[in-house]
Amino acid sequence: MNDKKSFHMPVSDFREQGKKMVDWIADYLENVENYPVLSQVKPGEIRAQLPASAPTEGESFDAMMKDVNKIIMPGITHWQSPDFFAFFPSNNSAPSILGEMLASGLGVQGMLWATSPAATELETHVLDWVADMLSLPAQFKSTGTGGGVIQDTASTGTLTAILAAREKKNRFMSNDKGVKNGMVAYVSSQTHSSAEKAIKIVGIGKNNLRKIEVDETFAMKPDALEKQIKTDLDNGLVPFFVCASVGTTSSNAIDPVFSIGEICKKYDLWLHIDAAMAGTAAICPEFRPLLNGIELADSFLFNPHKWMFTNFDCDCFFVADRTILINTLSILPEYLKNKATESGAVFDYRDWHVQLGRKFRALKLWFVIRHYGVEGLQFHIRKHVEMAQTFARWVDESNDFILLNQPPLNLVCFYHKNGNEFNKKLMDTINQEGKLFFSHTVLDERFVLRMCIGQTNTDWRHIETAWTIIRETAKKLSES
Ligand code: PLP
Repeated sequence: MNDKKSFHMPVSDFREQGKKMVDWIADYLENVENYPVLSQVKPGEIRAQLPASAPTEGESFDAMMKDVNKIIMPGITHWQSPDFFAFFPSNNSAPSILGEMLASGLGVQGMLWATSPAATELETHVLDWVADMLSLPAQFKSTGTGGGVIQDTASTGTLTAILAAREKKNRFMSNDKGVKNGMVAYVSSQTHSSAEKAIKIVGIGKNNLRKIEVDETFAMKPDALEKQIKTDLDNGLVPFFVCASVGTTSSNAIDPVFSIGEICKKYDLWLHIDAAMAGTAAICPEFRPLLNGIELADSFLFNPHKWMFTNFDCDCFFVADRTILINTLSILPEYLKNKATESGAVFDYRDWHVQLGRKFRALKLWFVIRHYGVEGLQFHIRKHVEMAQTFARWVDESNDFILLNQPPLNLVCFYHKNGNEFNKKLMDTINQEGKLFFSHTVLDERFVLRMCIGQTNTDWRHIETAWTIIRETAKKLSES
């Protein structure tokens, strides 16, 4: 029997290990570009090195960090490498990491205003700042009819929007009686898969999700949307929700939000805007037109955890009429009743999303915005866009590669003229070598390479090296 009185880590050890941890992270970020960007391990390789069962006796922190270095690090794909160009980025930054640390240290669970008033009030306030930074219409602010809330991910944000839309259309009856048959939702063939997943979750059913045709820029065709809505109405169905994308995942296509919004108004459908990555660009006035038409939307989201230097997870979700959201999601069991809630004078964010408990995520966003200032954020966003536009020009000027389209922002889609198999081999070869990591999509049956330039520390030299590697590898493969 162990005769210890406590097994907790003494504060003095925490102090020492905490300082070492900050050093470890600082060293990591300083050296991150020296690692192969894409982890090179085989399936099962990490697990095979872990003991079969949990330790009976506690171990030293030094022993844990030794295993982090030896076992875990080879299994890391380095999202914070400036040579990471795959998917969409998942940024972090020093102020955000510190904010995340502080949130963990405070260990606040901010489900109700009363469970930490500062967590709620800071979040409300920072999201009003964000609404102003993106020049969102007044109804999306807490001082208007709506407001913002931090959700974990865009997927959850879209799920929340669909739930609210469903309830609005059903006059809040489906919460009691179950989902009415025949409800129909609309996305484009390019909308992120999270919308389809949400449609399945909320009980609308995949067969009641219409994937509207896109034009040559891969943006939703409003006339095709309206035609489909009319057909569905003629067939006695109940259209209720449209998701417009500002920056699709495959190619960053921008749906015509204003035209879609007018159709939504005409037929009384909820308009949700998914601007998961591209939304950040609206901080720069020259890119704000991307959101034109947002005044017609019921909800809007973007992810500072993608392209605003804020650690995963942090999705900013805005709604134009918060009463719809709250009426959809509010439930007040006896054990959560409190004076502040009963007074009606506070926001309880548990009523604004699916889960009850919530982390104090506003801290890291607050730190990021205060550290960079709006000017600093604009500087880095503009630089990423400029680098992407330059990369696109290099592609366009080359003899062997073809630019798919003029990138609206920071995602460059292109392909080698040697065809799909060659492009796949080119990407796999480069990613396996580990000097950079980029990804692909398939558009009109064409295997398309995607370079998304949005990692916090990506600079000119990184894109120059990437372009050299891509060209030289293509040349070698063509000659082999
Ligand atoms: N919407 C778009 C346009 C995306 O590109 C993504 C992910 O890349 C998502 C939604 C889902 O994001 P999340 O991981 O925050 O759920």
